[in-house]
Amino acid sequence: MPQHAPSPRVCRDCDGFATAAITTGTRHRDGSRATLTITCPACKGTGTIRASRTQGVTV
Ligand SMILES: [Zn+2]
Repeated sequence: MPQHAPSPRVCRDCDGFATAAITTGTRHRDGSRATLTITCPACKGTGTIRASRTQGVTV
């Protein structure tokens, strides 16, 4: 069912997941997977965006 997000300012680019660890496909020598942490460039890792402009979001 439709459910409104608690915060209307969740970054639309990353959907709130500002940082994501992705696997590179390589492994460390100990067998663990090497990961890269990517920070969302849109919100710069905050997961939220500022309402810099009134976009007239209709709820
Ligand atoms: Zn983001």
